Amino acid sequence: MKELLAALLHLIFPTPCRVCNLPLDAQRRSLICGRCWDQVRPVPEPFCPRCGKPFASPLALEESPGHHCGACRKQPPAFAVARAAALYERGGTMREAILLFKYGGRLSLGCHLGRLMAEAAGGLFEPREFDLLVPVPLHPSRARERGFNQAAVLAKEVGSAWGRRVGYRLLRRIHATEAQSGRRPEREANVEGAFEVAQPDRVEGRRLLLIDDVFTTGATVNECAQVLLAAGAAEVAVYTLARVE
Ligand SMILES: [Zn+2]
Ligand SMILES: [Zn+2]
Repeated sequence: MKELLAALLHLIFPTPCRVCNLPLDAQRRSLICGRCWDQVRPVPEPFCPRCGKPFASPLALEESPGHHCGACRKQPPAFAVARAAALYERGGTMREAILLFKYGGRLSLGCHLGRLMAEAAGGLFEPREFDLLVPVPLHPSRARERGFNQAAVLAKEVGSAWGRRVGYRLLRRIHATEAQSGRRPEREANVEGAFEVAQPDRVEGRRLLLIDDVFTTGATVNECAQVLLAAGAAEVAVYTLARVE
């Protein structure tokens, strides 16, 4: 009866897709339609072999293989490599999905996004090279506000898909940083000294994969990588759900 009522209601007031506003299928439980999910784009190649930033020229790596982007040459990051499952585009499905997940409290979307992340890694790197996944922590006050840490939700899905353990309490955020906005130097100052290693015995000699939702300037993951390397990690790489161009 309840299902019939829901179906009738949907006929009269179809639920719109949260990205394109076209009606969703009655059976779909997702907030986003299949057409919109199909629009999610991987980070276009060629990209910087270090930080994953797409190069403007399609010939960038043909002319000089292994060429790093300007930012990585100027100041090499602490992390070995950074890769992302998809491109973070203004008005795009991935951006809308992340905003709904993080600020709209749509945890079910987080599970879907985590699975997408686990699957997309195939062409980017070998998950078995890593001993442990490390979600970028939120400050406890922010985690309380939001009710969850988006990076931990993603890491949980990715870890179970790959059969890899997750170090949820390995890193700790000791300063609540300002909401991330602004350019690179400001972001770097913003996160400096914001993290500490809470479980050094799980870090020493290990190959760690940091997990976060969006790679913007890389300042946050770079700070995490520095702290983990200082605590004796053998290597730190970064995998995010999305990356800005
Ligand atoms: Zn749609
Ligand atoms: Zn780079």
